[in-house]
Amino acid sequence: MTIRPIIGLEIHVQLATRSKLFCSCAVEFAAEPNSRVCPVCLGMPGTLPVMNRAAYELAVRAALALNCRIARFTKWDRKSYYYPDMPKNYQISQYDLPLSSEGYFEVPAADGSLKRIGIIRAHLEEDAGKNLHEGLAYTRVDLNRAGTPLLEIVTKPDLSDADEAYAFCVELQRLVQYLGISEANMQQGQMRFEPNVNVAITDGGVEYRTPISEVKNLNSFRSVRAAIAYEIDRQVKAWQADHNYTLDKVGKLNFGWDDAREVTEFQRGKEESHDYRYFPDPDLVPVTVEDAWIEQVQREIGELPLTRQARFMRDFGMTAKDCEVILADRATADLYDGAIAAGADAKVLTKQMVGVWNHLASARGVSIGALGIAPVTVADLAKAVQDGSISATAAAQVAEEILNRGPVAGEGVQAIAARLGVVQERDEGATQKWVEDAFAANPQAVADALGTNERKAKAAPGFLRGQVMKISQGKADPKLVGELIERKLDELRRPKSP
Ligand SMILES: [Zn+2]
Repeated sequence: MTIRPIIGLEIHVQLATRSKLFCSCAVEFAAEPNSRVCPVCLGMPGTLPVMNRAAYELAVRAALALNCRIARFTKWDRKSYYYPDMPKNYQISQYDLPLSSEGYFEVPAADGSLKRIGIIRAHLEEDAGKNLHEGLAYTRVDLNRAGTPLLEIVTKPDLSDADEAYAFCVELQRLVQYLGISEANMQQGQMRFEPNVNVAITDGGVEYRTPISEVKNLNSFRSVRAAIAYEIDRQVKAWQADHNYTLDKVGKLNFGWDDAREVTEFQRGKEESHDYRYFPDPDLVPVTVEDAWIEQVQREIGELPLTRQARFMRDFGMTAKDCEVILADRATADLYDGAIAAGADAKVLTKQMVGVWNHLASARGVSIGALGIAPVTVADLAKAVQDGSISATAAAQVAEEILNRGPVAGEGVQAIAARLGVVQERDEGATQKWVEDAFAANPQAVADALGTNERKAKAAPGFLRGQVMKISQGKADPKLVGELIERKLDELRRPKSP
């Protein structure tokens, strides 16, 4: 018996617009319940929706990045269902003429190659509100979320295991964040996943297919992976117990996911599209787009993160871990490219980005790209360390000063370093004096360096160097200090003349 899992994903991504899809209410997480609503998103009779152009543009940007064909003509449909969080009793979505279709997305596979996953369609729709029943004997409805723009992405069933689905979700999150399509904050439910899973079982030369399970509303990568792995296992066992457990005989099924118990729970038979009574929304005009506009959006997308990562690793010797920081968003990656163009050394620059700049950005809760520093400034700081005029430690101080006070009267990195008194002293005389002082102040370390205890003898010069750096207040050139310490120790090792 062989088994082959067949997995597709439906993903909802909340678009990073300021206002809702068909009204001007603000999209805001955790606002006072029912405070971001108006007659349109409350579904009052007689109101008229108006499409948010920014949402449409973000959706097209995503569709192009997913290599989809963009429809020149598309319309809005009403998907009928009755639920308290949907006051109109229908959701505005796109049915037979979605804004995009027939794309693909490449995902890194376990062996390092890229696997191409087909995209059936990506379309726009509005989100529902929220029913709140936790700890209550009744249900409360918050409609702040009603009307929030969602991009629904539907893949082909091209994924072959839980890990591949996991990788797809991670890479998709990176793409939409990088392109500013969505903040894709999982805790706030801005990215939700619904895997479709079944298994082709070949037994005695006959292929059986288990019923397709759709697992609803997963909101973490971890639960996507766990739910798919669980379903594959459950379906194979169910089929082994009863060979009538097949897609032909049972159909499609909806499941929920219990995150605490890590099991799927049967909800109901899956609806077919005719259950929703789709029909064109008479209140909204169809959307037509021009080729020139699509080309413009395409140009603005530029190099995609995965391609850029390959280039950064190849040309600048970055590791995947470096890329996580430097390719976190487009502004940061652009800053890096800009600093390289301004003459920074790639190795030093990478180190400073992942170290100093990342540290400062994290402390401010933003990305490096959002710090607002010019590429030439970033390049100058890297150059200053590269040419030895400041130490790596002093670079952190200078960077902090740049962020806190900004360059005073247009001063450059070198001038700031001079003002802070951290320009490295490469004068041998001055450095020699600091070495003498350090030796005089630390006789035990000197004795250790010259002694027979190998471990201590090895550690002592490093300690002495640290002391010299301290005495010089970070101004000494560590390389020169190391040389002078060695020279001094050599002198002391030499037998004293009588
Ligand atoms: Zn509204």
